[in-house]
Amino acid sequence: MTDSVVIVTGGSRGIGRATAIAAAARGFKVCIGYASNEIAAQEVVATIESTNGKAIAVKCDVGDEADILALFKAADELGPLGALVNNAGIVGPTLRVEDMSAERIARMMAVNVTGSILCAREAVKRMSTRHGGKGGVIVNLSSVAAKLGSPNTYVDYAASKGAIDSFTIGLGHEVAAEGIRVAAIRPGLIDTDIHASGGDPDRAHRLSANVPMKRVGTADEIANAIVWLLSDEASYITSAILDVSGGR
Ligand code: NAP
Repeated sequence: MTDSVVIVTGGSRGIGRATAIAAAARGFKVCIGYASNEIAAQEVVATIESTNGKAIAVKCDVGDEADILALFKAADELGPLGALVNNAGIVGPTLRVEDMSAERIARMMAVNVTGSILCAREAVKRMSTRHGGKGGVIVNLSSVAAKLGSPNTYVDYAASKGAIDSFTIGLGHEVAAEGIRVAAIRPGLIDTDIHASGGDPDRAHRLSANVPMKRVGTADEIANAIVWLLSDEASYITSAILDVSGGR
C-alpha cells in the first residue's frame, strides 16, 4: 500500500485496534489515539512492532480540541499523513429522550460529531493538494443506528451518527478535487466493549437474532472494510457510506 501515516482515533480497543493492526500490515505507519486505557494502547503498539511495523500511541480525548492538535502533531513526527480513521465514539446508558440531560447530549455530540469534524479539519490541512499535500483518505465510523434511530435506547447516539453520514457526503464533495476521498462505514452489531460501556454488555448477542445473517460481526470484519476503503482498490469511492452489518 504506502508507507504514509494513518491516524486511528480510539485505536486502543475494539474496531480501532483491529483497524490499526490491519493498516500496519498493509504498510501504514500508525498513530493511535486513546482516551485513557494506556495499557491497551501500548499492547496495540507492541503487536504492530512485533511484526516490524511502526506505531505510536497518543492520549487523545477527541472531545478536547487541544488533545486533537497534540495527536496530529505527534503523527507529523512519523511522516506525511495519508489517512485518518475517525473511529473514536461513545454510547450512553439506555434512556428515553425525555430523561436525557443536556450534559449527556453535549458530550455525545462533542466526541462523536465535533471530534470527528475537528480531526478531519486537521487531516485536510495536511493532505489536501490545496494546502500542498499529496491527497489521502478519511474514513468515518457511522452506525446502522443512523438509519434505525435507536428508539428507547440512545436516540442521541443515533443522531450523532446521522450527522456523521451527512458530514461524510459533504466533506467528500468539498475535497474531492483535492486528492482526498471521504467514506463512512456503518457497522451493525459488533462484538466489542462498547455495549458494556453503555451498561448493556450482552446487547449485541441478545439482538443478533434480528440480524439477517443471525450473528454479530467482529472488529476484524469492520477493519477489513476500512482498510479496503483506505486502499487504491477503492480509488473511485468518495462521499459513500457502506453498511457492514450482516444485512441489518
Ligand atoms: P469500543 O470497543 O468501546 O472502543 C472505543 C475506543 O475509543 C477505545 O480505544 C477508547 O479508548 C476510545 N475512546 C473512547 N472515548 C474516547 C474519546 N472521548 N476520545 C478518544 N477516544 C475515545 O468501541 P467500538 O465498538 O470499537 O466502536 C468504534 C466505533 O465504531 C465507534 O465510533 C462506534 O460508535 C462505532 N460503532 C460500533 C458498533 C459496535 O457494535 N461495536 C456499531 C456501530 C458503530 P480507551 O481504550 O482509552 O478507553
